Amino acid sequence: MKREYARHPEYDPGAPLLGVENLRVRFATHQGDFNAVNGVGYTLLPGETFGILGESGSGKSVSQEAVIGIVRCPPGHVSGSVRFRGIELIGAPEPVRRSVRGQGIAMIFQDAVTSLNPGLTVGYQIAEMYRVRTGSDRRSALRRAVELMDRVRIPSARERAGNYPHQFSGGMSQRVMIATALAQDPAVLIADEPTTALDVTVQGQILALLRELQSETGLSLVLITHDLGVIAEIADRVAVMYAGRIVESAPVRSIFRTPSHPYTAALMNSMPRLDAHCSRLTAIGGSPPVLSRIPAGCAFHPRCAHAGERCRTNTPRRRRVEEDHFSACHYWEQLSP
Ligand code: SF4
Repeated sequence: MKREYARHPEYDPGAPLLGVENLRVRFATHQGDFNAVNGVGYTLLPGETFGILGESGSGKSVSQEAVIGIVRCPPGHVSGSVRFRGIELIGAPEPVRRSVRGQGIAMIFQDAVTSLNPGLTVGYQIAEMYRVRTGSDRRSALRRAVELMDRVRIPSARERAGNYPHQFSGGMSQRVMIATALAQDPAVLIADEPTTALDVTVQGQILALLRELQSETGLSLVLITHDLGVIAEIADRVAVMYAGRIVESAPVRSIFRTPSHPYTAALMNSMPRLDAHCSRLTAIGGSPPVLSRIPAGCAFHPRCAHAGERCRTNTPRRRRVEEDHFSACHYWEQLSP
C-alpha cells in the first residue's frame, strides 16, 4: 500500500530517513523564555539505532517531540528543519505532518499506562491505529491487533485484546504501546525512555524485543535515555545532550573508548561498571542550568573541572575528533584520554 506521505512533491525515497538541522524549541512563559532546544542536528540512517543521552532537562525529549510535531505551539515555538525522506515538517501544514506522524515516524513514551486510553480495550486501541492507516474493516483490524499483540509476546493475546489498560503491568503496557506503534508500520520509532519505569529483567526483555523487531522490519530507532547501559546495549550511534545542545556525538564504540567531552566523561564516571575496578562513583557536581538562564559560553562551565576563561565567554563549536565523532569542547584535544 502506498503511503500517504509518498504523494508529497518533496518526497524522495533516496533522501535520509530523518535529517534534523538547527532545531530550536523555545517556550514563552510568564517567567520568561525557556530555551529547551538550541540548535540540534543529526541524520538518521535506515535500520540504525540512534541514542540520545542526557540528564533530565537536557532537551532530549522535547527535541524529539518537535521532530514528530507534538510540541504545543504556543506556548512553544519551533524553528529549524526536520526532513523526513526529503519532506520538510517544520512549518508544514497539519495534513502533511499528520501523514508522516504514525505512518512515517511513531513515538512511544516512558509511562505506557497513562499513554493509553483507560476507557477503551487495548485490542480496540491497536486496531484503530491499523484501521486509520489501511482503511480496513473493524473485524480485520481486530484480527491484526491480536497478531501484533502476539508478535510483541503478550500471552493469550486473543483474550487479552478485550482487557483495559489498568489490567496490564508496566512491562505489558509497554508491549501494548509498541504494538500500537507497529500497527502504523512506521519507518522510524522514537522511544522516549521506554524502559525507565520497568524493573531490570523486564527492561532487558523490552530492549531485546525492540532489537528483534528492528532486524525483522528494518525499523530505525531513536532511543532517548539517561542510561549509558541501555546505550551500550542497543545503540549504534549516540548524541549526548546538555542544555538543549548536542555536546558530543559518535558511534557507540568510539564514545566509550575515547569520550571527548568532559560532560560525557563525567556521565561515564558516575555510572557503575562491571569491567572497571573502582571503589567510589563520582557524581557530577551542581545541577543542570535553568533553561531561562543558560550560562554564556559553554553551558557546562559552572560544573566543569576543566573550565578556562574562554569557556565562560565563547560557545564551543562542534569539532571533529575522528570519523563521525564530534565534540563541542574548546579543550577536547588536551582532555581526550
Ligand atoms: Fe569544560 Fe570548557 Fe570544554 Fe565546556 S568548553 S566542557 S567548560 S573545558
